[in-house]
Amino acid sequence: LPRLAIFEAIKKHDAKSTAVVHSISGRSFTYGELVNDVAAAKDKLQRNTGGKSTAGERIAFLVENGYDYVVTLLGILAAHAIAVPLSPAFPAHELRYILDQSGSLMLLSSEKFQDKADEVLSEGMETAPINYKQEKIMLGKADDYVTLEEPTSDMGGMMLYTSGTTSRPKGVLLPQDVLTAQSKSLLEAWEYTSKDVLLHVLPLHHIHGTVNALLTPLFAGSTIEFQFPFNATTTWSRLAAPFVETPDPSKRPITFLTVVPTIYTRLLASHATLPPSLQLAAKTALHPTNLRLNISGSAALPTPVKAAWTTLSTGNVLLERYGMTEVGMALSCALPFSSRVDGSVGWPLPSVQARLVDTETHDVIEQGEEVDRESGRERQGEIQLRGPTVFREYWGNEAATAKEFVEGEDGKGKWFKTGDVAVRRRVAGAEAGEGSQPRWASGGMYFILGRQSADIIKTGGEKVSALEIEREMLALPEIAEVAVVGLPSEAWGQKVAAVVVLSELGRTAGKGGREWGALDMRRALKGVLVGYKIPQEFRVVGGIGRNAMGKVNKKELVREVWGERLE
Ligand code: ATP
Ligand code: MG
Repeated sequence: LPRLAIFEAIKKHDAKSTAVVHSISGRSFTYGELVNDVAAAKDKLQRNTGGKSTAGERIAFLVENGYDYVVTLLGILAAHAIAVPLSPAFPAHELRYILDQSGSLMLLSSEKFQDKADEVLSEGMETAPINYKQEKIMLGKADDYVTLEEPTSDMGGMMLYTSGTTSRPKGVLLPQDVLTAQSKSLLEAWEYTSKDVLLHVLPLHHIHGTVNALLTPLFAGSTIEFQFPFNATTTWSRLAAPFVETPDPSKRPITFLTVVPTIYTRLLASHATLPPSLQLAAKTALHPTNLRLNISGSAALPTPVKAAWTTLSTGNVLLERYGMTEVGMALSCALPFSSRVDGSVGWPLPSVQARLVDTETHDVIEQGEEVDRESGRERQGEIQLRGPTVFREYWGNEAATAKEFVEGEDGKGKWFKTGDVAVRRRVAGAEAGEGSQPRWASGGMYFILGRQSADIIKTGGEKVSALEIEREMLALPEIAEVAVVGLPSEAWGQKVAAVVVLSELGRTAGKGGREWGALDMRRALKGVLVGYKIPQEFRVVGGIGRNAMGKVNKKELVREVWGERLE
């Protein structure tokens, strides 16, 4: 696999093969068209700057999911500028923040978002909007442009803003060599091919939607079919289309799905509501012989969701992985089903170096030293990462960048501190050398305990993982959703508390057909969790707010449920 910048990589694919499909309209675009249009977009961009070089300039864009988005992103990359994809779902003041923070030279917008673009630009931004309309300029054969450039860090790249789960979104600079390294690592681990058809239902301003579900399949020459915004019924119809009685010949089976856990939850809930004829076809679509790979990430995958998916698909197992804006994907389970261990996010992906640093002693937890000899307890550690997939800097925030990196003792480079805590366990039968496990899947497997800042609760001298408690609580059929948090407590330092959304069953599972209450929950958890992990407070709510990537801002949730007095 040569190390190429994305623009060089797509020139090598069969020009006649399909690159992008618009799911609803059925419109499709070949790799040949894509190469031409990207070249044209690049030229146009360079002309629009009035002779000024676009290299390293931030160029923001507001374009709906689909072919135009792909052309715009790749055009900016081909011009060696820094692409800043914006979400049309953001309110104007958020967009303005990103435009200002990134110091964007211009804002490109599709016709659909012209009004929004004008609104954003109206206040104090100096650059003018550019009416960006796709122009078809035939520039010759794709071959004419193959130069096989090796990407470097000064060939522009992409700036993505973090999901803002714990604080104001931070601009993360991912130069082109980093983007290529991230994709290369995934190509090796997940084996994307030109035969894959990926259904794309995610927003396109986060790493999951842009790197895993767009750039990497483009590197592989796969077909990406856009269906956005996500709608469970529409997705089921599309998945089922090749397996209904009279299939639409233009609809190929979807082979690749990578989404967030809440989407799997919604698909599972909606399956039962489909017409019976579609239900069977939908089930067939999920079978491992059709859906080659189904991946979950961005937030913890509840075990019951994973189990229900396996049942529905008659044997397809969700693959969980862990990643973040700053590093792309870092840890992942592997292709053999035996590696997709419940609750685990697997091993460091190819080219990713990972270490666990004991949150108490600050020592590196070596392989085999995961259990403290004296206390017999598992050692919790912060995940730290380094290697070619790690971002360069938080844009315009040197202090934040400096704070999140620590020097390695071996002199081989700095480690990025993820702020996420995990334990590592050896799992028999799941490792490299066993069965068909790949070589990179070696050593202990990682199990995420959560964010140090929000999910590790210190209660009575114990460090408790909110994620672990959430996992056990979600296994109760009376509970539909839960977020576990730490509340200040004089007696315990912090106490464990849970915000719960009851399932339909839970709404009548209490005494005399009443709602399930705190007492019921406590009783149900007694045999499952040790005493200090059982929440001391339960609050039943109608719903738990999540951002576009299915993540809960726990600080905000505590404020909503318990009010300001806890600040
Ligand atoms: P901000 O940094 O602005 O607070 P954020 O961290 O949510 O937002 P992202 O970079 O999109 O922004 O998310 C990365 C985080 O998502 C990780 O640090 C981790 O906490 C969480 N995460 C990702 N994958 C998983 C997973 N499989 N299980 C549990 N948590 C995960
Ligand atoms: Mg973060």
